Amino acid sequence: MNAQRKQIFAGNWKMYTTKTEAVNLTIGIAEGISKTEREIVLFPPSVYVTCVITACEGTPLKVGFQNMYYEREGAFTGELSPIMINDVGAHYVLLGHSERRHIFGETDDLIHKKVVAAIAHNITPMLCVGELLEEREAGKSESTVEMQIVKGFEGLSAEDARKVVIAYEPVWAIGTGKVATPQIAESMHAFIRKTVQKLYNDTVAQSIPILYGGSVKPDNIAGLYAMPDIDGVLVGGASLKVQSFLDIINVTL
Ligand code: PEP
Repeated sequence: MNAQRKQIFAGNWKMYTTKTEAVNLTIGIAEGISKTEREIVLFPPSVYVTCVITACEGTPLKVGFQNMYYEREGAFTGELSPIMINDVGAHYVLLGHSERRHIFGETDDLIHKKVVAAIAHNITPMLCVGELLEEREAGKSESTVEMQIVKGFEGLSAEDARKVVIAYEPVWAIGTGKVATPQIAESMHAFIRKTVQKLYNDTVAQSIPILYGGSVKPDNIAGLYAMPDIDGVLVGGASLKVQSFLDIINVTL
């Protein structure tokens, strides 16, 4: 962590929880936060977002959607627009999660359009990038992630680039229990920061929060968060239990 940058701890609930579980999880997390300088963001299933926003009233918790389409409105069955996200008062949107890329076939081009739309509507895009196991084994981790960053940021002004949050999530570490070592994660985060610096400048690169995601648990958070370019985490499985998520978001170095 580097205290100059915003520190963000996010929970991606994926397609889990009932409505009651979502609300109880939110209340439990709100009650247990001890590091108020950290931004905590919850990404519930979209159908529960409004209930979770209501449960967050009067707390510092922020809420986001796990996905979004880039058009304002129209005949796009099953999709949600940035206007709708604003309308219900959510602040973040997760874009390019590996499950969206690899199960639902989302391309860099589509993800880029969503990033642009989110910024245009004052929604903070959390842009997920990360390599597959075969790409890591073939020595292509950096080139894969570099391409995802270059395409994701294409055409954004420096001012807009600073509104993006990046989440580095190596696909081989998501939901597998195989966390990247703090050294592997730090080296990729430093590489991502260098990529942003080359696209823009040092000020932009130094201001963008880069979160790590992939099997983050209470017992590995401290090592990861101690790294200078890791500005928080995006947590899947361990964000579904109040105590394990609190143990992560309240970590003390
Ligand atoms: C995720 O869903 O973004 C994630 C990192 O999941 P997990 O923590 O379960 O690996």
